Amino acid sequence: KSLLNITDLYASAEDKTILQNLNLNINKGETHILMGPNGAGKSTLGNVIMGNSQYKVDRGSIFFEDEDITSARTDERAQKGLFLSFQSPIEIPGVSISQFIRTAMETKEKIRLKAFRDKLKTVTKTLGINEQWINRELNVGFSGGERKKIEMLQLLMLNPKLAILDETDSGLDVDAVKTVSRGIQTFQQDDQKSLLIITHNSKILEYLHIDYVHILINGKIIKTGDASLIKIINEQGYEPFITGQGE
Ligand code: ADP
Ligand code: MG
Ligand code: MG
Repeated sequence: KSLLNITDLYASAEDKTILQNLNLNINKGETHILMGPNGAGKSTLGNVIMGNSQYKVDRGSIFFEDEDITSARTDERAQKGLFLSFQSPIEIPGVSISQFIRTAMETKEKIRLKAFRDKLKTVTKTLGINEQWINRELNVGFSGGERKKIEMLQLLMLNPKLAILDETDSGLDVDAVKTVSRGIQTFQQDDQKSLLIITHNSKILEYLHIDYVHILINGKIIKTGDASLIKIINEQGYEPFITGQGE
């Protein structure tokens, strides 16, 4: 059953075409990996799926659960069950990690403090996160690893239908890789949940069930395969796919 269906998508920012003729279908329960060189348009795709107003859809459509969301607002998409991990460092003085997550959850529906705390307790335990840590303020310069922890907390607390994880922060330490793997694996346990993971970090992928791998070059998905593609990319880079493009 199709969850996300993108057809012939063209998207631009500041009059520059970034995505072109992009087609992607994600069924319920599937995990898709998106790889590609820097500047290929990976983060743009995540942002366009989420309806970030910095990007303009010039052509094509995005359907979510058979509903056309091409011009839906970001908050509407979030309510329907779409989730995009944040990339830029968040700094909200006076707001704790825990409050931040509760606010995000309450855009969907009100949640009682007790229910929220119970759930948070379970999720922090699953992720191996210290319960005191979630009371920290969002105003300090979080490390890449700490941001990943918040992201995984958000993912499991919000429990979206489709999670798009943009893993651009490379150089995660062993601890952070473990947290991310645990978080994604827990999310995957529900066989209706789908993932689109943008990553270079094959360490994270080693522990995951993967259905499809897509290679994005110059705003276009030029190849789709199974998990074995990751090994080929690690060994040969993207060059063979770029040169093979015209064939
Ligand atoms: P990736 O995530 O694959 O590294 P991006 O999606 O971040 O690539 O960027 C793809 C291209 O689009 C880059 O050339 C980038 O400079 C450009 N781009 C991305 N976002 C914007 C924007 N908001 N305004 C102008 N250009 C952008
Ligand atoms: Mg599955
Ligand atoms: Mg990116």
